[in-house]
Amino acid sequence: MIYLDHHATTPCDQRVVDAMLPWLTQSFGNPHSTSHSAGRVAADVVARSAACVARHLGCPAESILWTSGATESNNLAIRGICGHPRQKRRHLITCFTEHHAVLDVVAEIEQNGWRVTRVPAYPQDHELAGCVDLDALAGAIDEDTALVSVMWANNEIGTISPMQQIAHLCHQAGALLHSDATQAVGRLPVDMKSVDVDLLSASAHKFYGPKGIGILVVGNGNRRVRLRPQIVGGGQQRNLRSGTLAPASIVALTTALEIAVSEMSESDARIRQLRKVFCGKLLECIEGLVLNGISLESPQRLAGNLNVRLPDVEGESWMAAAPDVCFSSGSACSSVDANPSHVLTGIGLTESEARRSVRFGIGKFTTDEEITQAVRLLCDAYRRIKPA
Ligand code: PMP
Repeated sequence: MIYLDHHATTPCDQRVVDAMLPWLTQSFGNPHSTSHSAGRVAADVVARSAACVARHLGCPAESILWTSGATESNNLAIRGICGHPRQKRRHLITCFTEHHAVLDVVAEIEQNGWRVTRVPAYPQDHELAGCVDLDALAGAIDEDTALVSVMWANNEIGTISPMQQIAHLCHQAGALLHSDATQAVGRLPVDMKSVDVDLLSASAHKFYGPKGIGILVVGNGNRRVRLRPQIVGGGQQRNLRSGTLAPASIVALTTALEIAVSEMSESDARIRQLRKVFCGKLLECIEGLVLNGISLESPQRLAGNLNVRLPDVEGESWMAAAPDVCFSSGSACSSVDANPSHVLTGIGLTESEARRSVRFGIGKFTTDEEITQAVRLLCDAYRRIKPA
């Protein structure tokens, strides 16, 4: 099996597993039971982890909320801002090419009577294809806009958004900015000191940590961010997200982030080189193969991302014909959704083009041999299924 779907998830780094294990078996205290030493030890590692994550992201340690992952973080950010009893504004903005973990929450808020603007993304021929159209965004923001939610990097075509420009547009009008940074954290420098977003979501499993743990950064020290909690109960995490914290998972996310940051430039360069070779070889053996999204040379594209479309065969058929390679059809992280990718149609592809598209995600453990072998398996599979 050759795993080329690193936007869906990544394997846990062994160093992450090693760091988390003692927090399951030996130091297993409840971090909220601080009346005894077992609880205090756990509380201490949670606090140190928050400080470490905050240092890497350039935000105050008090802004880190631990969640079950980016889906929960996005839900909490958007519902939390819009549902706060002191929220006076009633307008919410997002972009067509966001992940469903944003789009579906926004649709719910709309049903609750909010005005919602879904801003278009730049089309396929634009140098930032897939990113929110900045002029359209500027035109959509008004004095009633409570929140703008724009992703940091797209999970299908890998376009990286100019977040600081977006932040500037939002803050000029007094709106808050949430960014779903699930594909960015651990892959790109994400520094909230220089890029002033107010809320930020991420999941550890996208950067070689375990599934089931994520963060929502709430507030960047600059503006007041008031959230209505979505999970209530024991009042943990300043009442914003109740439930016993999981020190092992928190240590894992933190270790994964530390490793990702320290190895980022080296692995980024290696992954870019692997992708260049991979794409070049696919283009050689599949006539009419087309790249979706922006140039692979552009620094505005995530290093491991490759999204291509076949001239004459559906992505699903290609996947079925090459079962030893793990990659995904256009509709990406979740194969539950059988519709053509809204990201690809959002940049102007037809439904047929979107259905002929697939996404690959190369990771830091991907080897040269795996790339060679994947090319062989994929090209053989394509030759078998292409129309005569
Ligand atoms: N946002 C983006 C951009 C993603 O790629 C994903 C993962 N597919 C999510 C949110 C949801 O993350 P999780 O499933 O870890 O909650």
